[in-house]
Amino acid sequence: MAATLERETEHVDVLIVGAGLSGIGAARHLQERRPQDSFLILEARSALGGTWDLFRYPGIRSDSDMYTLGYRFKPWTDAKAIADGPAILRYVRETASETGIDARIRYDHRVVRAEWSSDDARWTVTVERTDTGETTQLTCGFLYGCTGYYRYDAGYTPEFPGRERFQGQVIHPQFWPEDLDYAGKRVVVIGSGATAVTLVPAMAGDAGHVTMLQRSPTYVVSVPEQDPIARAVRRVLPDKAAYPLLRWKNVALSSAIYKLSRRHPKLMRSLFRKGVQRQVPEGYAVDTHFKPTYDPWDQRLCVVPSGDLFKAIRRGQASIVTDTIDTFTERGIRLASGQELEADIIVTATGLNLLAFGGMDLVVDGRPVHLPDTMAYKSLMLSDVPNFAYALGYTNLSWTLKADLTAEYVCRLLDHMERTGVASATPTRDADVREEPFLDFQAGYVLRSLDQFPKQGSAAPWRVHMDYARDLWMLRRGPVTDGMRFSGVRSGSRVPA
Ligand SMILES: Cc1cc2nc3c(=O)[nH]c(=O)nc-3n(C[C@H](O)[C@H](O)[C@H](O)COP(=O)(O)OP(=O)(O)OC[C@H]3O[C@@H](n4cnc5c(N)ncnc54)[C@H](O)[C@@H]3O)c2cc1C
Repeated sequence: MAATLERETEHVDVLIVGAGLSGIGAARHLQERRPQDSFLILEARSALGGTWDLFRYPGIRSDSDMYTLGYRFKPWTDAKAIADGPAILRYVRETASETGIDARIRYDHRVVRAEWSSDDARWTVTVERTDTGETTQLTCGFLYGCTGYYRYDAGYTPEFPGRERFQGQVIHPQFWPEDLDYAGKRVVVIGSGATAVTLVPAMAGDAGHVTMLQRSPTYVVSVPEQDPIARAVRRVLPDKAAYPLLRWKNVALSSAIYKLSRRHPKLMRSLFRKGVQRQVPEGYAVDTHFKPTYDPWDQRLCVVPSGDLFKAIRRGQASIVTDTIDTFTERGIRLASGQELEADIIVTATGLNLLAFGGMDLVVDGRPVHLPDTMAYKSLMLSDVPNFAYALGYTNLSWTLKADLTAEYVCRLLDHMERTGVASATPTRDADVREEPFLDFQAGYVLRSLDQFPKQGSAAPWRVHMDYARDLWMLRRGPVTDGMRFSGVRSGSRVPA
């Protein structure tokens, strides 16, 4: 009977959870570096692309340049360095289809639980079918979470007093109605993050007027939508040669801005302020609306391509109000200052709800894994959780830089396990390494949920670096054995039909 059950349970060497930018990239690395491994991707939604398929609000775009948000193995060839959502989605789809990864994706499959058995050296994964409600199981030798970092079913919206009184529409950008008609309407966008600064100029042309209502300002930096250096380099070099050059140029530039911001915050504050002042009308209250109380890179900088936000302000199509909400009213929002903002549509660009590992429950040898008791290993595995890796990008650089390195590292670890004939790899904690919060980042959405995340450690390999050059060395060239316990004897695996 046991033998029959085992035959019926499908098994793969590597199970990737999530078909977003990271999951598709991970599959591509596996395909190229470990063609001997069987793999599948399970995706909870009915489409691939993750973030770039889910978000449909006007103007949806990256705020990183695509030379670093793109994969290392696939040159970004569009003219725009700051790309719009549909172009990024096309790029991810193309990556999946050109080598047949799309045929390896099972849609409407949400992984809800994964149980590791040391005796069998495998994970048993419980999957909920989001289309039929059915529950199924499969097993894998290695589990790879590419689940992103936030909840897909609900965005973050604070409790606004009087919300039920408002007679117009209230919309969260995560659930943008396809047919929303905002032409000529008065729109208030609550928020000051990347989504708010994207939405305001994108709606400004058609809406009657757009007001960005923020409680406190953010650093806003204008960058050219098309990178002039990239244009010049691509005129003389083929894509294959130009891409790595441009990628490194942008890594170096972003890293330098980050490091300068941390070391010389006063200097960078003043540079960012000058950048804004040059683009807003004479006499504009720059300090009220664009002078944050925190230092640059305590939170993510907001990038606006070719100053589009400032253009909308100059044209009088958009304005910024910095105040706190007293209450929603029938006609809009009353502010603490007593001012009332009238609105037909209120957009709550108030952020995301963080969610670790797509909400999967992890269990190791019958013991549930309580994430805050674990420590992140090289920011891609967890202490005492065997044969499990996750893709989590940088907060100060493009996500894909780290996701790509993580995939390379997973392939190297699997190579090592195959070479040495071991079945499992478990990051094992060092008693001398102190626990520290997972991220040193002051953004509200991070602070709200930090207690549900693993810890990081005070020393390598338990430190979470936000430093690409360092990670590159550690993950591409460094050992895969440090802090790792290997055990069990590797056996063959069956490839699904
Ligand atoms: C609006 C917006 C703009 C952004 N812009 C940038 C930017 O410019 N630069 C940058 O570096 N980062 C940006 N980010 C962060 C962005 O999410 C990453 O760049 C990148 O898209 C993450 O890819 P991912 O595949 O890791 O995660 P996601 O895109 O979130 O994809 C995860 C996938 O996993 C699936 N999944 C989750 N849980 C489960 C489960 N339990 N079972 C099965 N499937 C599951 C989801 O359905 C989803 O398809 C942005 C984020 C947002 C929301």
